Amino acid sequence: MLRGMKRLNRYENRILKIVKLGGKLVRLKQFGFSSKTEEGFRFPIYVLEIGKPKAIKKNLSGLVAGVHGLETIGIRVLLDFLDDLFVRKTSVLYNEIKNGELGIVCIPILNPGGVAMKRRSNPKGVDLMRNSGVEAVKVPFFFGGHKYSNFFPYFRGNVLQSESRVLDRFFYEYLLPAENEMIPVVDIHSGFGTVDHVWWPYASTHEPCADEPLFQKMAHHFTSSLNHYLYRFGPQSETYTTHGDLWDRLYDLFQNSKHPNSTQPKSRFLPLTLEIGTWSDIKIDPWKIFRKRGIFNPARESKQKSIISHRKFLCDVMRLAKQNSSELS
Ligand SMILES: [Zn+2]
Repeated sequence: MLRGMKRLNRYENRILKIVKLGGKLVRLKQFGFSSKTEEGFRFPIYVLEIGKPKAIKKNLSGLVAGVHGLETIGIRVLLDFLDDLFVRKTSVLYNEIKNGELGIVCIPILNPGGVAMKRRSNPKGVDLMRNSGVEAVKVPFFFGGHKYSNFFPYFRGNVLQSESRVLDRFFYEYLLPAENEMIPVVDIHSGFGTVDHVWWPYASTHEPCADEPLFQKMAHHFTSSLNHYLYRFGPQSETYTTHGDLWDRLYDLFQNSKHPNSTQPKSRFLPLTLEIGTWSDIKIDPWKIFRKRGIFNPARESKQKSIISHRKFLCDVMRLAKQNSSELS
């Protein structure tokens, strides 16, 4: 049996629990399969539609996690957010969803094969965030993506992988046709470092994307009006550049299909990557890594705290779907 199978089953059970809790407001769809393992096994990839169908069309936001199989904290943050939403049933966001004012579409685990195999890449050894085919201007050697062999991490692959195609389908069915002015999507990752980053396009170049002013305005609004000052906002290329970022590709597809000539686009597609810094608890307690797990487990407790701490941020990003950019200050 694959080493991460239990973990994957646990997450899938939590997804089912959310579907149950949400009742009529949540629909579970299978959107495709992962790439095949060496044994020929494929894992289903699920989409959750949350909200009334008309809100899914008119006031839509998106959530994605589990792109990298080892970054399970992102999956847990996403599931915690939805779980909390439907357990409490009292929040402003819940009421907006219930009243048909807002819809959310989610892919809780884009790379279930990576989770089951306990690795970053998909079952074919391809790093999905290097797989889009976008060529970067200049990237860090190796880490920025390479085509040598799937034996090494950060392999770009030679074709668009099944998982990447599922994200494409998600984009074409929901995000591209959405009618709201701001269509925000958060893709949750975790990485090295002590801070939580929120990145917008591009990963491939230091050139600003078309919505750079709006992203800047949004960052300012989130920091000064909504108190999310612990997040560090910026284009991804400010931290590092990579080949093949999936959001770079979708962002450009959106730009090209929506308004090739217009300078005043109606809808803006705003993909954000939340990269949760995982060194933060080590900074608080450097001895943590040497201790064995016991009944009293401060590490686990602080992990739970860290997961919960992102609820408000995700809620505020999702709520952008029913706002106008002129309301950001
Ligand atoms: Zn990642």
